[in-house]
Amino acid sequence: MGARILIVEDEEPLTMLLRYNLEAEGYEVDTAARGDDADTRLKEQTPDLVVLDWMLPGLSGIELCRRLRARPETRQLPIIMLTARGEESEKVRGLATGADDYIVKPFSVPELLARVRALLRRANPERVASVLTIGDIELDREKKRVMRSGRPIDLGPTEYRLLEFLMERPGRVFSREQLLDGVWGSDIYIDERTVDVHVGRLRKAINRGNVADPIRTVRGAGYALDDRFGRAN
Ligand code: CA
Repeated sequence: MGARILIVEDEEPLTMLLRYNLEAEGYEVDTAARGDDADTRLKEQTPDLVVLDWMLPGLSGIELCRRLRARPETRQLPIIMLTARGEESEKVRGLATGADDYIVKPFSVPELLARVRALLRRANPERVASVLTIGDIELDREKKRVMRSGRPIDLGPTEYRLLEFLMERPGRVFSREQLLDGVWGSDIYIDERTVDVHVGRLRKAINRGNVADPIRTVRGAGYALDDRFGRAN
């Protein structure tokens, strides 16, 4: 599954152009035309990156950026800000508010794509790390081995892939459909209840004894691996 990108932009032709090009690169693209709509959506689901326009109806890009940085779930979310030419003071303000990068309109699409790639690489080193660690759970991709508190955990191939998928994206809530796409692949048809069965098996395998369950069931939404699990705070 490609990284998920949310475009927040009220100029529809630009949104369409960006969507087309980002999808051609293999990203999953979602769009919002208003700042307040984007804010609501980002409380429900966190993408891998946001392309955020400065001037938006409902809520400005700068205010949305500030809100995202104030919430733990989106504090690290990569944000590329878009704005009009020649507004250098805005650039300074944009970066001060917490945007990771900044691009001036009109820009070339290849330039934006390059920035997106660079930012995703920088923001998601865990996507390429050979060992993923969250709390007391360690997943070694080279050895295909999972340990919890130093003890080996026996997982079937689907449970292993499911855990790997969730550990790559801690804190993010995935619907059953998204988990099917990401873990099983989107080209095969499997009933969504299959996800519940495998999450159940995964839980049983990793939660032996009196230990905290790192997998969160989000009612009406799906599942997430708790990113704060195992941390002192
Ligand atoms: Ca705008």
